[in-house]
Amino acid sequence: MTKRFYVCRQCRRFTMNKECVVCKSSNLSASWKGLVVVNDATTSEIAQFLGVSVPGKYALFVG
Ligand SMILES: [Zn+2]
Repeated sequence: MTKRFYVCRQCRRFTMNKECVVCKSSNLSASWKGLVVVNDATTSEIAQFLGVSVPGKYALFVG
């Protein structure tokens, strides 16, 4: 059984809800590539690359 994940187009965070928990956007995409886990957004280079400030799971590319 596969779970269907959505990714917020605004901040690229993964969500299983119908809206993003971070920016409350309902602009979600089921088409994404590359899962990135951000543990410490203040020191992580990937977090700076993605422009995120909240730890969590993010997608590298969102369709
Ligand atoms: Zn978002």
